[in-house]
Amino acid sequence: MTAENEPLVRQQLTRSYRYLHEHGLTQQASGNISARCGDLILISPSGAAGPHVEPEAFVCTDRNGRAVGGGRPSSELFMHLAIYQAKPESMAVVHTHSSACVALASCRKPIPGFHYLIGSFGGIDIPCADYAVFGSPTLAQNVVGALTNRQACLLANHGAIAWGCSLDTAILFAHRVEILAYQYLLARQAGEPVLLTPAEFEEYRDQARKLHYD
Ligand code: 13P
Ligand code: ZN
Repeated sequence: MTAENEPLVRQQLTRSYRYLHEHGLTQQASGNISARCGDLILISPSGAAGPHVEPEAFVCTDRNGRAVGGGRPSSELFMHLAIYQAKPESMAVVHTHSSACVALASCRKPIPGFHYLIGSFGGIDIPCADYAVFGSPTLAQNVVGALTNRQACLLANHGAIAWGCSLDTAILFAHRVEILAYQYLLARQAGEPVLLTPAEFEEYRDQARKLHYD
């Protein structure tokens, strides 16, 4: 992706931000979204609400967070930049306060391997990053640690974050983690969920590779 694509990336970010709102993954001004655009990052403006954000409102920064052009970037710019730095293959980052994720994140526990799709995130659970105040470098550090070998994690007493090698993939994982969090809450009401073993997750990943399943 080059900076020549900037108008297209702005359109894609706008569409994706609306998707998050329409699917109940962000409410009011919670959450934020960004994508790489050549050497630059485009990120939602601070305080933005999904349905009202226009393509030109996304704020452009360099990889160190220095503003290129106008606008006030999301307060979670550190967290987005830290993920781009830690994962060279990342192209987009999506942060939400989706309800089931917030409910589980308030317990400060990972979502365990109760369903085979947990394996699509890269391991046998979806971890929960330690608590730190929103917008802080400590939160960014905690999140990068929790995302080791994972596509998404919870943020203690806060929400969830996902990244992807494309914007669509980051959105897919942000939505999937919420679906799984909700299903885990339901499963807990039904009884004590049986967890898959590490070997069963390996088997799942082999099968997913074989069947080209995302
Ligand atoms: P921003 O509106 O600054 O992006 O903040 C929302 C949020 O989710 C903070 O964690
Ligand atoms: Zn947040």
